[in-house]
Amino acid sequence: MARGKVISGGRSHIKKDDFVQVIAGRDRDKRGKVLRVFPDDGRIMVEGIQMIKRHTRATQQRQQAGIIEREGKIHISNVMLICAKCDRGVRVGHRVLEDGKKVRVCRRCAEVLDR
Ligand SMILES: [Zn+2]
Repeated sequence: MARGKVISGGRSHIKKDDFVQVIAGRDRDKRGKVLRVFPDDGRIMVEGIQMIKRHTRATQQRQQAGIIEREGKIHISNVMLICAKCDRGVRVGHRVLEDGKKVRVCRRCAEVLDR
């Protein structure tokens, strides 16, 4: 199986560094920046969202055992890309610009969401 550069089946319109709004689950309505995208399982990691506690053991580098909090993965379908103009999570469409570049646009106000 070829792995690696495959981009998952078209539906993932979320990229790293996007600002998204959570639309389902415990962190519903919170917003954050996408830290990582996991195309293989359709999940993403968003700053400050789905925080999970992890117990750590003392190691030679880390003297104290304790609990650290870090982001867990959430499914990409649980977020919407934020349109700055609408100031909310919106459905995303695509448009091809005159120079042939494909961009994401807000389906609500038609604002281009890619810089
Ligand atoms: Zn908009």
